[in-house]
Amino acid sequence: MVIDMHTHWFSGDMPFSPAKWKETIKGTMDMYLGLVPGSNFTEETVEATWADPDGSRLIATMDADGVDAAVVLPIDYGILHGEEANIDWRAANKKHIELAKKYPGRIIPFYGIDPRRENAGQMFAEDMAADGYKGLKLYPPCGFFPSDEACWPLYEVCLEYDIPVLYHGADSGFFSENDGSHPAHVRRTMDKFPDLKVVYAHGGGFHWSEDMTQMLKEYPNFTTDISAWVLLPEEEFQRRMDRIKEVVGDYKKVFYGTDHPVYNPVAPAPVFIARIKGLGLPKDVEAGIMGDYAKAFLGL
Ligand SMILES: [Zn+2]
Repeated sequence: MVIDMHTHWFSGDMPFSPAKWKETIKGTMDMYLGLVPGSNFTEETVEATWADPDGSRLIATMDADGVDAAVVLPIDYGILHGEEANIDWRAANKKHIELAKKYPGRIIPFYGIDPRRENAGQMFAEDMAADGYKGLKLYPPCGFFPSDEACWPLYEVCLEYDIPVLYHGADSGFFSENDGSHPAHVRRTMDKFPDLKVVYAHGGGFHWSEDMTQMLKEYPNFTTDISAWVLLPEEEFQRRMDRIKEVVGDYKKVFYGTDHPVYNPVAPAPVFIARIKGLGLPKDVEAGIMGDYAKAFLGL
């Protein structure tokens, strides 16, 4: 079973105040994809390649790439932007449940919320009881740290239902502990909540892959999705995969992911799939990274 551990769905009414949202996205893209030769990311590119009113673009991409199921991650930008979405944020989350019902077995819906929202923990508990999300997405670059006390009620819900929290796991420009996703904050969280299942997304991004690899070894419930590693030079990708093998001994906590639709304009999924297959791993290990390990981790 092929599982994409990291996708997003931009339906149009979920992102916050489209102008500001597109500005944020363009800034992120300039930072990351600016590193990719030939990328020229404009607000028009965002609109043209990401907009997906009914989710059919996500499903069509999955079909084309041979992906059976995808984790879909809502990101709550409301507090960062100081403006609310075109629809209520809880309704935005709920749309992911509806999408999962529309495409049975294809969508693995996570819940996304900024922990600084008033009663965030209570909202998550209620929505979790009603709809059974498969995990929680937190995006610390919005201006908080995973170890913040505001996150604790959300973790209690994750523990109660035995579902993971997935953090954006790459730098957002500070390269220091001021950065919301810095490994130090994730370590503090896991020291306090050792039973909490964690996915550190993007394999630590450009700068924190060594920390990520050490954490795979140190913390039993710490895992990673390697979306974003499609953007690395080929040799660096190989070096990082070898390093995981050397430090950890296996790839059982390493999950395939794409960050659909973010990198589609410059590095679509088939490029990454070919790269993983090109590692020449034993077939069961390759199938593990491509989805079998995620299936076990998510309890599907
Ligand atoms: Zn993402």
